[in-house]
Amino acid sequence: MEYLRKETLIAIVKGDITVEKTSAIVNAANNRLAGGGGVDGAIHRASGPQLMAECRRIGGCQTGRAVITKGYNLPAAYVIHTVGPVYSGQADDAVLLAGCYRSSLQLAYENNLPTLAFPSISTGVYGYPLELAAPIALETIAAFADEHPHAFTLVKMVLFDERSFKIYAEAGDSIFKQE
Ligand code: ADP
Repeated sequence: MEYLRKETLIAIVKGDITVEKTSAIVNAANNRLAGGGGVDGAIHRASGPQLMAECRRIGGCQTGRAVITKGYNLPAAYVIHTVGPVYSGQADDAVLLAGCYRSSLQLAYENNLPTLAFPSISTGVYGYPLELAAPIALETIAAFADEHPHAFTLVKMVLFDERSFKIYAEAGDSIFKQE
């Protein structure tokens, strides 16, 4: 699934983000940048121990914000670590989740990184319903592409499982095809 938004190609694919060759990949981290399961564990395993050492030096990250490290043994040169909200059902969840995508895009832009891959933030252990998270992710990426048309050539959503892929693909259709 691919959509062109001004000069940014927005792609929705099924796959493993640790093998992505984009300039940076985004990690769904926790507040202490302490590593964990899910995509965080997979990224740390693939990158190697230097990634944890750099995360320790940074010390932490607020929910809805992002920090950048090198990618070490990953194909991607950089990792942008963002901390999604634990889903609570409150209005603030959506603000914080959009903040993750916006902060990550902004940080990549400031570092002149033209291609970026995201996992589905907060929809694993943090419990954010996929049907609610997918349009927030895609609309935030599209808004950034509209505001900064020369920032990115490619922004990818990399979904690990079939169900996530289907829900993002359906959200992409309804958001981009109606325009
Ligand atoms: P969170 O704590 O933000 O919910 P998780 O890592 O538990 O983060 O889950 C976020 C999403 O990342 C889930 O949909 C999970 O299936 C997915 N995921 C797990 N491993 C990978 C991977 N290697 N590449 C891309 N996505 C992954």
